[in-house]
Amino acid sequence: MAAEWLKRFAETVEKNKEELTKLDQAVGDGDHGINMNRGLQEVLRKMEEVPADSPGGVVKAAAMICISKVGGASGPLYGSALMKIASALGDEEDVEGKQLTKALRDGVDAIKKRGRAEEGEKTMVDVWEPAVQALEQGSSWQELTEIVKKARDNTIDMKATKGRAAYLGDRSIGHLDPGAVSSSYFFLELACVMEE
Ligand code: ADP
Ligand code: MG
Ligand code: MG
Repeated sequence: MAAEWLKRFAETVEKNKEELTKLDQAVGDGDHGINMNRGLQEVLRKMEEVPADSPGGVVKAAAMICISKVGGASGPLYGSALMKIASALGDEEDVEGKQLTKALRDGVDAIKKRGRAEEGEKTMVDVWEPAVQALEQGSSWQELTEIVKKARDNTIDMKATKGRAAYLGDRSIGHLDPGAVSSSYFFLELACVMEE
């Protein structure tokens, strides 16, 4: 499940890397697509070379690559989230819904702690937190898909108070947050894999 999920996430980021870069040109330094794609292509290579034997193992390997290869603000944030998710998944072969939701809760909490960000600051937290809350409240994967897309689009009207976009102040309003968009891929691909 985790290998398929991260593979699809990597493929979607690759397909949309120019889009992510364009979004980051508007509110940041224009490298979010490059950063994410560099790390996730390495995750794909690693998964082929040394297939991990548990979902937790797959996610842990991806976490280490995010930390060492993605860079920017997003690398350590995704890296620490994936590291916590991996710990919560442990080395069990099968992951069920409740455990996955708990793992994703640990993941978003890690992002909020490391980035000192809360909801409403126009960051990836604005997708992660509503997505995890939806799962905690028992939403279906189909419902999650809708919630994630709405959460992503809600960042357009927000004013950034964390990350590079915060330098723009009010001028950050009117643009999607790049990290919220890459995070939407993360959850949308999870929903796709879990629905199958
Ligand atoms: P950088 O801004 O260093 O170039 P990226 O462009 O790869 O890094 O990532 C930018 C994204 O990281 C933003 O769109 C935002 O979603 C996320 N981000 C930046 N700072 C924070 C933070 N303090 N907390 C949570 N997310 C953040
Ligand atoms: Mg950037
Ligand atoms: Mg940068």
